[in-house]
Amino acid sequence: MPTAFITGVTGQDGGYLADALVADGWEVHGLIRSPDPALADLRGRTPHVVLHDGDLSDTAAMARLIDSIEPDEIYNLGGISSVAMSWEQPLLTARVNGVGAAGLLDAAWRLQERIGRPVHLLQASSAEIFGAAEQSPQDELTPTRPVTPYGASKAFAHQLVGVYRRRGLAASTCILYNHESPRRPERFVTRKITMAAARIAAGEQQTVSLGALDVRRDWGWAPDYVDAMMRAIRHGVPDDFVVATGVSRSVRDFVHTAFVHAGVDDWESRIEVDASLTRPADASDQVGNAAKAKRVLGWAPTVTFDQMVARMVDHDLHAD
Ligand code: NAP
Repeated sequence: MPTAFITGVTGQDGGYLADALVADGWEVHGLIRSPDPALADLRGRTPHVVLHDGDLSDTAAMARLIDSIEPDEIYNLGGISSVAMSWEQPLLTARVNGVGAAGLLDAAWRLQERIGRPVHLLQASSAEIFGAAEQSPQDELTPTRPVTPYGASKAFAHQLVGVYRRRGLAASTCILYNHESPRRPERFVTRKITMAAARIAAGEQQTVSLGALDVRRDWGWAPDYVDAMMRAIRHGVPDDFVVATGVSRSVRDFVHTAFVHAGVDDWESRIEVDASLTRPADASDQVGNAAKAKRVLGWAPTVTFDQMVARMVDHDLHAD
């Protein structure tokens, strides 16, 4: 039975990926931090994942784990995924997202040398490596110029994947633009908006505090992005792939779409702009060109912006 190892298995993407791999008949191993509050959710959804305690920044322990699992595929989805948190914890972000990825790449390469068969690795890279890019839309050749500690840590990991690829490891990246689902935690603005829409519709909340409303992002549906990662790691030639919808929308568009879908038509009067929630260093607009993923991997997004927002709001309207 083919074997996969997922870091970040308790996260949004890790959960969808574990579900997909188990459904395909794979033996799936996942890394968890202990105690992990998201563990019960994961256990309920995907009881067949073999879980291992550990921290990505403990590179020696990660190397031992990879050596014992001997996975065919390694998906590095774990780490500090919030730009806001990366400003609060830049050193931790560098250790987990940067050094952690270096440890996995080196462990994968050493395993491949020892067992004499390919070990495939997929790094969850990010649009934040481009920062405030001069080019729009961005593609795989856009220069990396991060503007946040998160973006810098992801840029380091991204470059290192290229280094190990040239050394002979079947390592690929998906340069992921923002992607959402009902599994997105509320600390992210999209889920904060859909939960607020549901609570306001139910009369449980009056307003929602948000930062910059004009910031634009290219938002897609998380399971589509997990599908892209599986296609990329299995493609015969390891490479970098932008994964995006090609359309950017503003935070204001997101609020409008979510609130109207929840039946809250006076949405503009429900927003309180809180300057402390804005991050001036952030790129004002990001949009990706996924033509290469489409051409080489046969990948395309299947869910529109409106459908994605509606699914999140519907979930939150019916949550207990
Ligand atoms: P997520 O929901 O925040 O999940 C992050 C995962 O990393 C969680 O399972 C978390 O475990 C784990 N983790 C955090 N610190 C760790 C550490 N020190 N050691 C081991 N595990 C650790 O993220 P996501 O939305 O699924 O995103 C998956 C990946 O794609 C991330 O690398 C993210 O940076 C990247 N990405 C995401 C987006 C997006 O829009 N979602 C866009 C671009 C790139 P706990 O449950 O214990 O916290």
